[in-house]
Amino acid sequence: MKTWLRLLMSVWLLLGGAASAKVKVVATLSDLGAITREVGGELVSVKVLARSTQDPHFVDARPSLVLDVANADLLIINGMELEAGWLPPVVTNSRNEKVQRGQPGFLDASTLVTPKEVPTQKLDRSMGDIHPGGNPHYTLDPENAVKVSKGIAERLAQVDPAHASEYAANQAKFAEELTAKVAAWKQALAPFHGTDVVTYHKSWIYFVDFAGLDEVAFVEPKPGLPPSAGHVANVLGVMKARKVPLILQEQWYPAGTSEQLARISGATLVRVPGQTPEQQRYIEHIDDLVHQVVAALAKKRG
Ligand SMILES: [Zn+2]
Repeated sequence: MKTWLRLLMSVWLLLGGAASAKVKVVATLSDLGAITREVGGELVSVKVLARSTQDPHFVDARPSLVLDVANADLLIINGMELEAGWLPPVVTNSRNEKVQRGQPGFLDASTLVTPKEVPTQKLDRSMGDIHPGGNPHYTLDPENAVKVSKGIAERLAQVDPAHASEYAANQAKFAEELTAKVAAWKQALAPFHGTDVVTYHKSWIYFVDFAGLDEVAFVEPKPGLPPSAGHVANVLGVMKARKVPLILQEQWYPAGTSEQLARISGATLVRVPGQTPEQQRYIEHIDDLVHQVVAALAKKRG
């Protein structure tokens, strides 16, 4: 081969060739997107279908989501039915064989963790929006994020075997940093062990278990149902009787009822992003969450 041609080839590889070889990952939710970025680094491009400010139970299935999934090499979903209301037609309409359930390009991240609150009795509509596989909000426990990152690294290695060692190394680095943070967060939360909290939606069990807190009531009477006057009166009764210092909820839920409950009972309302904001790392997101909870509980104590 002529020298100039070889030179041209290597320039092409440096510029376009290498860039176009990125593994195209689509994650349904931003926690999974953020964890995938840690593990995939420069080797992957990550698109997230739902904005971090959107309630993940109800995402508008815009046509652009179908196009994103159509181009994906790997689709990572939260699973446990969290996206059941909007994702199935998006995946079907993408006509992308690679990312259909059962293919290597499809990863249900809930298979990587131990589910909590798996219903033991038969479900019916009167119970509200209960997920039959268990509570799907598992990425709020940072120790689950370690497991999820490992599963994503293994799946990326399967889809892109040439870079298996890089994915493993990135994952080990992320897990080390996250594990150190977990110890620090547990230490910060330790003084508040056993504190009662009220949450808006039944989405906090993984976090309150991690934090050593006790969920004693929910502002929603049943998952997915708006608060009724009678139910709110009951919650207020519980809050006053037990001197509950904290109401915790995601920003995508309305604030009004919780603000009133906080005002009357003397609790602090903490509204946080329920998923990693686009400009943050997963670790920063949980760090903010822990610090806001600790600040609210410390204020009450002091
Ligand atoms: Zn839910």
